[in-house]
Amino acid sequence: MEKNKKCWACKRTLVGDSKMGLCPGCINDYGSIGAAAAALGLAVGGRQLVKHGGKIIKVATKIIKH
Ligand SMILES: [Zn+2]
Repeated sequence: MEKNKKCWACKRTLVGDSKMGLCPGCINDYGSIGAAAAALGLAVGGRQLVKHGGKIIKVATKIIKH
């Protein structure tokens, strides 16, 4: 059993509750948890963009041609 968790970013031993497996210093470095969630949303959004990329490019070229 491993009780001491380490921050995956700086390998510092985490004391107490750790969110996202990051130490408080790294959470500051990486921004708030909301920013991480936003990044995740962006990644999902990017995937959707690729899925519907053809349509978007069609519209974009229409705008550029104007
Ligand atoms: Zn850290």
